[in-house]
Amino acid sequence: MFYDHIVIRYGELSLKGRNRKLFTTKLHEHVIKKLKPFEGTRVKKLRDRMYIILNGADPEPIIEECRHIFGIQSLSVAIKAENEPDKIKEAALFALQQGKNVSTFKVTTKRVNKDFPIDSQAFNHIVGGHLLSNTDGFTVDVHHPDMEIHIDIRNEATYITSARILGAGGLPVGSSGKTLLLLSGGIDSPVAGYMAMKRGVQLEAIHFHSPPYTSERAKQKVIDLAEVLSEYGNNIKIHVVPFTKLQQKIHREIPHGYSMTVMRRMMMRISDQIARKEGILSLTTGESLGQVASQTMESMHAINEVTNYPIIRPLVAMDKEEIIRISQQINTYDISIRPHEDCCTVFVPKSPKTKPRTEKVIQFEGFNDYAADIAETIENVEVIEIAKSTKDDQDMMELF
Ligand code: ATP
Ligand code: MG
Repeated sequence: MFYDHIVIRYGELSLKGRNRKLFTTKLHEHVIKKLKPFEGTRVKKLRDRMYIILNGADPEPIIEECRHIFGIQSLSVAIKAENEPDKIKEAALFALQQGKNVSTFKVTTKRVNKDFPIDSQAFNHIVGGHLLSNTDGFTVDVHHPDMEIHIDIRNEATYITSARILGAGGLPVGSSGKTLLLLSGGIDSPVAGYMAMKRGVQLEAIHFHSPPYTSERAKQKVIDLAEVLSEYGNNIKIHVVPFTKLQQKIHREIPHGYSMTVMRRMMMRISDQIARKEGILSLTTGESLGQVASQTMESMHAINEVTNYPIIRPLVAMDKEEIIRISQQINTYDISIRPHEDCCTVFVPKSPKTKPRTEKVIQFEGFNDYAADIAETIENVEVIEIAKSTKDDQDMMELF
């Protein structure tokens, strides 16, 4: 005997009433994408859960992959048995014997299929008795067992599971629309993107770079970050904005204390326009209140003033240590700390105003016309698709 299925439980998804189908369909797509390398596996989508049919594949690496898919609350390896007491008893015994460092157990039966002739309570005793009389050294502990064996008697079959592995939680990416992530090469913005994805948001990214002040390797860093992020959700499109000319003009024309604020406002204006063009309804940044000069309340106010787009700031109330911890967990940290210059650090003045006044910013911007520069910049945006072929994904959907 061996584990032949993985059960996927939805968690928060199951609260979503009529939208449920959208959520489960999205989740199904993500699971299928992750299963691509595992030959022979299949997925069965039900209203309240999914089953991965292993067809002989090793469950461990599959669980490792699926653990990171948003929208999954928990996973378990399972044995599928016919709705026959003897078959179920045999599978439960196998599950108990697979446990490591287990000396106490408990059996919990859930009987959805009322045609099954034995009620849950009675069946717990029957299976418990079977386990005790066919093993040595185990005892039953109903309060704090080392292992809980779940017997789920459903209409079509019974599934026997033990340990629950925690999933990534959240909502399936693509079920809450799309955002344009302002992705620098730093530590914060990739984490912000990850957090937005966790709430089901699909990402597109925008990156500002200033060659020759910033190198090709700085751009590559952003591509690598987007690649890591795409593992958690969708293939990401990056809009790479050539920012040099505009930055030089700001540097020339704007008093230095205010140049950073103006530069950020230009970033927001350009992001706003690109989002509009792409039909995207929000922007996301890695800003965290009070972290640096551009992230004081006054700065945020002055920068935000140029757009009426909702700006999602998932890190706004987080400490740097928390952000770093997440970036390590999601594998973006090592890329983020590669030492390449970012366009903002190149032009950053020695002492940017921490409390810029919006009227002043508007006044300084008013000395020049920037609209044409913005339009020209947008015209020269380079689009990079972090693409694993979408066609492949479609083919897979049909196959499953
Ligand atoms: P990060 O670690 O994300 O770079 P940070 O702590 O360095 O953030 P800032 O430099 O003030 O903070 O940037 C604030 C936010 O502005 C970033 O989180 C990011 O969303 C956006 N941003 C900054 N620089 C760029 C850039 N070159 N391209 C795109 N977005 C940027
Ligand atoms: Mg930065």
